[in-house]
Amino acid sequence: MEETDTAVLPRIATETFPPWVVCPQCNRVAANGHDVFVKYFEGHALVCGCGHEFDWWDTLLEQVTEHFMLRGAFEAIGASTSVFEIEVKADANVELDFRKFGVPDGARILWLNYTGYGEGPSPIEFHGNTPHQRPYDLRRFIYGARWGRLPAVGRVGVAATWIKTDEDEAAISQLVTAAVSYSDADYRSMVLAANIAAETSITRAVAAAVARYANKDTTRAFLADAATYSYQLKVLLPMIADLFRSPQLPEHIRQRLDALRRLRNEIAHEGKAKRPISQADAGNGLTAAIFGEHYGRLLHSVVSSSEGAAPCSAPSAG
Ligand SMILES: [Zn+2]
Repeated sequence: MEETDTAVLPRIATETFPPWVVCPQCNRVAANGHDVFVKYFEGHALVCGCGHEFDWWDTLLEQVTEHFMLRGAFEAIGASTSVFEIEVKADANVELDFRKFGVPDGARILWLNYTGYGEGPSPIEFHGNTPHQRPYDLRRFIYGARWGRLPAVGRVGVAATWIKTDEDEAAISQLVTAAVSYSDADYRSMVLAANIAAETSITRAVAAAVARYANKDTTRAFLADAATYSYQLKVLLPMIADLFRSPQLPEHIRQRLDALRRLRNEIAHEGKAKRPISQADAGNGLTAAIFGEHYGRLLHSVVSSSEGAAPCSAPSAG
């Protein structure tokens, strides 16, 4: 390495795209955000500008299962993509600081693409003696490898798919872990994290509802010792949705979340699943967890904003 330079300013504007899905009919992109899931749970039609009506479950499931270019599942969990251009130099490193191109400090990089344009040095992510990069490392070096008598300078398009989660967003952090494990085809780890993501979000909403009728200690003991996640899914969730006039969790998603929960128990108790987990099974489980996380968020906000029953001062469990 002869020299180290800071990455030059991009010739095209840096652009950061929010998570999206692609319309199967017109190939235009449509936004994927929490409000879309809320509309789905509320039973509203989701229509593209071209008139195509999305079935939100089918659309997300396809995106996760296809995992196009090993990126689809990351967009499905809500990752953004920053796209920009840098200049590479032959036989030299340029410093690439993603924070200068729309990736926020503390973000985790989930997917990267370097595409060289025309003739010029090939972009190689440079490393020290250990080639592994950490996903939170937002400063990297790009080496311009010249094969033969190519020009000494070239342009490289960079796309970085990233997500930033706050420490208190436990459910989303677990979804990120699940999507990374899914992308690595480590489906056992994916099942564990995906189940935690859905359970954390749903239990948070259930606890907020139960806490309207019982004190903190009783609520905690009730959900830990009596109405565990399985019963929350099957009994408390539909009751609470009715009580607080929230949309119901669609039955097919409830069943898939229950299947994910059982698979998690097999792995946690036996060390492995009874049957090998296929990519299709894993994609189904991850998609269910994404919907479960959003549903828990919706229910929690409905319960929190309702003026219903006041917190009661019931005696604690004994
Ligand atoms: Zn369309």
